[in-house]
Amino acid sequence: MQPLTNKAQAVSRKPMTFLERLYLINIIKGMVITFSHMFKKQPTIHYPEQKREFSPVFRGLHVLNRDEEGKERCTACGLCAVACPAEAITMEAAERTEDELHLYREEKYAAKYEINMLRCIFCGLCEEACPKDAIYLSETFAPANYTRKGFIYGKPDLLIPNPKTEAAALAMAKGVEA
Ligand code: SF4
Ligand code: SF4
Repeated sequence: MQPLTNKAQAVSRKPMTFLERLYLINIIKGMVITFSHMFKKQPTIHYPEQKREFSPVFRGLHVLNRDEEGKERCTACGLCAVACPAEAITMEAAERTEDELHLYREEKYAAKYEINMLRCIFCGLCEEACPKDAIYLSETFAPANYTRKGFIYGKPDLLIPNPKTEAAALAMAKGVEA
């Protein structure tokens, strides 16, 4: 049969010598490699006790932003969903009532806003498309989860804490000591 690549190698079938059957030389070679790594700089870190510094352009978990008064900025225009190449964002719009003036900045708001993190490729296009500065990608990882459903992030997971009523939680979310 014609080989697909030229990487195939013929396997040697000659019987092993007594020394080879002892495997002693190979074990010593392996141990030398193992011990030599003990004195090299470790590429791994003890996460989560130690954390790597992110690149300035790192894009992590999404955050739904509020304004200085704590009102939600998102106006459910859908531009982020349209810009998303992975079709990871869905939302439902609702109209703000008189009683909700302190909650939402615009007349229309996202009653439901979801991002499917299993689809998201963290490209940041949703952030760029947003005309209201309502969504941005933070410097936090999307945490691991045991179920697929756990990766569908809703508004409670995405909304930044209210700077007026949850100042301590906001400071913690930003990584600042309260
Ligand atoms: S970061 Fe990219 S893939 Fe993820 S939700 Fe935003 S636009 Fe979609
Ligand atoms: S996050 Fe921005 S782009 Fe997306 S629906 Fe809200 S206001 Fe529109």
